[in-house]
This record gives sequence, structure tokens and C-alpha cells, in this order.
Amino acid sequence: MRSNLSLFFAIFLLFGCKNNGKNIDEMQISKVKTLESIKNFGIVIHGGAGTILKENMSDSLEMAYREKLKEAISVGHRILKNGGTSMEAVTKTIKVMEDSPLFNAGKGAVFTHEETNELDASVMDGSNLNAGAVAGVTRVKNPIDLALTVMNNSPHVMLSGKGAETFAQEKGFSLVDPSYFYTERRFKSLQKIKQREKDKVTRASFKDPFIKNSKFGTVGCAALDKNGNLAAGTSTGGMTNKRWNRIGDAPIIGAGTYANNATCAVSSTGWGEYFIRAMVAHDISAMMEYKGVTLKEAAREVIQNKVPALGGDGGIVSIDKDGNVAMEFNTAGMYRAHMNSEGELVIRIYKEE
Ligand code: ASP
Repeated sequence: MRSNLSLFFAIFLLFGCKNNGKNIDEMQISKVKTLESIKNFGIVIHGGAGTILKENMSDSLEMAYREKLKEAISVGHRILKNGGTSMEAVTKTIKVMEDSPLFNAGKGAVFTHEETNELDASVMDGSNLNAGAVAGVTRVKNPIDLALTVMNNSPHVMLSGKGAETFAQEKGFSLVDPSYFYTERRFKSLQKIKQREKDKVTRASFKDPFIKNSKFGTVGCAALDKNGNLAAGTSTGGMTNKRWNRIGDAPIIGAGTYANNATCAVSSTGWGEYFIRAMVAHDISAMMEYKGVTLKEAAREVIQNKVPALGGDGGIVSIDKDGNVAMEFNTAGMYRAHMNSEGELVIRIYKEE
């Protein structure tokens, strides 16, 4: 009887140390891993890149940008901290920036040559490579929400123009009057560009520094949640004085936005034509996936070498599967911020800060 009992305890102890075939060491490792991934959630945002120089900025405008960046990133960070998904963090963060007249997205969208506003946006879910995008919408207050709805509630990846707005209405979006997007600042900058073109001060070209500088200001976000899922999103009014229903990189999956749990999540901003040709967001992910380089190395190669070699400029924000962040740009400045799981916040505008 006594030896039967000992045998019973021996078996009990043996199985007590196992859990689904895992021994104590394995369990410890997976516990550490879980803690690590919880520790490493994070979020990074941009509010556009360009010739953003301290000497051209008033103190109050600079303060307004910094405060809005802080407000936006805090919204996403709170979602991640409470266990929400990276996609929810990305879209809600971008919405704050879309609702601000400071950025070239949503409310503050730049004007087309025809003095209208045409908005583009996209999102991508790194856990399943699902994506949604809209281009050239004129009556959708928050294009990022519509991009998310295209991803979640349509069989398509990208919708454009009137069709996208019909889809929006069918999905319960109430459309705004196009006048909602009017801001004096953006209207004036269109008029200045048009005047400059008329005066033929320089060739009417994107290369005219004045024209180029007043074009940028897209918003974007990339996030990693506690479950190790990555997501990215980008929203823009495009480039001032654009014509012919021009569409930039922001709604193009792989150019303006990309996310893959195996690598990183990226949102781009800059001269869209070049970002499309260089497939910037996907290229960064692909370099990590196929060459095994770090996020920082991949971002630097694409933004400091590949894009400028073509003649383009701009930047990206990105977060990788381990929570490492890159905020790389080749312009004088980029509105940008990131926040890690510890709640440490970094907000920057200029190159040297
Ligand atoms: N990439 C945007 C576009 O080309 C512009 C920007 O980022 O400011 O439409």
C-alpha cells in the first residue's frame, strides 16, 4: 500500500511539472516571452515631412503641432495599454490628426488645382496582410475609417471617387459637404502656387522649391500591440495643386502603407510619385524579410539612398515586431512622435533636435 502511494506521488509530481507537454523551463521561457511582448508594445506617428525649418515657424504654431502630436499618440497608446488592437490604435490616432486643420489630411487637406479637396487613405493589418484603401474621396470626413471599412466589409482592397462614397453611404457613413474641408491657410497656399505658376517665376514644376515645400503634410501611424500584431495607416489630402484626379502613394499598399507581423509596419510621407516608384513601405519590410537587416538599416537604405537616387524626398515612420522604432526622413523636418510601453514619449519636428 505504502509503495503504491509513493508511486502515485512520484507520477503526480512528474505530471505536475508538465503542462501540455512543456516542462518548467519551457514554461518559464514562454512566460518571459509573453512579458517581453507585453513590454514591447509601441506606437509611432508622423504629420508629414518637408522643408520644416525652425526659422519659418512661430512659437505658437510649433506648440500647437507638438500638442496635437501628443494628443494623437496618447489616444493610440491608451488603446494599446488597455489591450486593444494595433489597428484600433492606428485608426483612432489618425482620426485625431484628420480632425485637426494642422495636417494635410481630413479637415486640413490641401486643395487641388480645381480648388476642391480629394482625400486618400489606407490601412494594413500585419497579422493577415489584409488591407483597405480609398482614393479621391471628397465628402468623407475621416477617410481612414472608410479605408478600414473597405478592408473589413468589402471584398475589395481599394475604392475610389464617387463609388467609394456610395459604398460609404451604404455602410452608414454620413457624408459632409465639401466645404467642410475649406481652410484659409490651405486655400491661400494654393493661390500662391497658382500665382507663381502664372508669373513663371520658375518653370511650373514640382522642382520649384516654393511649390514643393507647400505640398506636404500627410499623417500616418504604425503600431505594435500586446499580442504582437502590427498595423499601419496613412491619410492625406495629397499634394497642393494636384490635377487630373492625381493619386499619390498614401492609398497604395506597399508604397504609402505596409504591415507584416513577420517584419514591421510602415507609413510614408513625401513626394508620392517617388514613393510609388520605390514601393517604399514594402521595400523596407522586404529588406528585413529577405536580407535579415534591422528596421533602422532598411529604413535608412530606402529613405537616404533609394528614394533620393530617383529624385524624391520624404520620410517614414515604422515599428518592428520587437517594438524597435524608425523615424527616417531626408527632408529638413518631419512632424513625428513615438511612445513605448513604458509611456516614454518622444516628439520631434526638426532634423537636429
Ligand atoms: N505622400 C503624399 C502624396 O504624395 C504627400 C505627403 O506625404 O505629404 O500624396
